[in-house]
Amino acid sequence: MTYTTLLFGLPFMGVGAGVLLAHLLVNRQKVSQALLLAFSGAFLLSVIFFELLPKLFAAEDFTVGYWVIGGILFQIALEYFSKGMEHGHTHPSAQNKYPWLLWLSLGLHAFTEGMPLSNYPQLAWGMFVHKIPITVALFTVLKLQSKNWKSLYLPLAGFALVTPLGGMLGARMLLNGTAILLPITGMVVGILLHIATTIIFETSEGHRFNAAKFISILLGFLLGSLL
Ligand SMILES: [Zn+2]
Repeated sequence: MTYTTLLFGLPFMGVGAGVLLAHLLVNRQKVSQALLLAFSGAFLLSVIFFELLPKLFAAEDFTVGYWVIGGILFQIALEYFSKGMEHGHTHPSAQNKYPWLLWLSLGLHAFTEGMPLSNYPQLAWGMFVHKIPITVALFTVLKLQSKNWKSLYLPLAGFALVTPLGGMLGARMLLNGTAILLPITGMVVGILLHIATTIIFETSEGHRFNAAKFISILLGFLLGSLL
């Protein structure tokens, strides 16, 4: 297995870990899901501030700010359709219509964030951590709606493949020597920044201090900065 394959494999394994965890946490899902989310948000912020942004700001002849803001706006638009699934929100729909728009926006999100993978190994670890709570949330929603194992696991397998596919396209672009990867990485920073800050600053239970959540956040920052 080459190094790049490993990087593409990490987001995939994150989804696998999420499915496993969803099985293990059947009854204690709510608390552990909140802590996992807090951890993943802090971990992503570490990757953004220690790895992605310093490299982007160091790039010559490139104004990263516009792209980061563009990424934030892009993610806001996507969340109208995904209802915030990217940061672990679950809103099981009352109707029985299949949530195509949710899949489309989630897929677009996951594909885009995978594109810089081959160039930023720390992002691959960020993706591994990021996919776990999202998969737990997805699993919960899908399980309510699916009638058999196929309608539960096939969409999850598809979801697991989207980010590595984005990574492969990104690697191809890099091979062809196009400069498009810098703006895309800037957008990914905006996308992840929006998600991570939503998770961390989201008002939780009347602004009460939550020690477990705080420790999860500290741990996320610490591990993310060690990458
Ligand atoms: Zn994501």
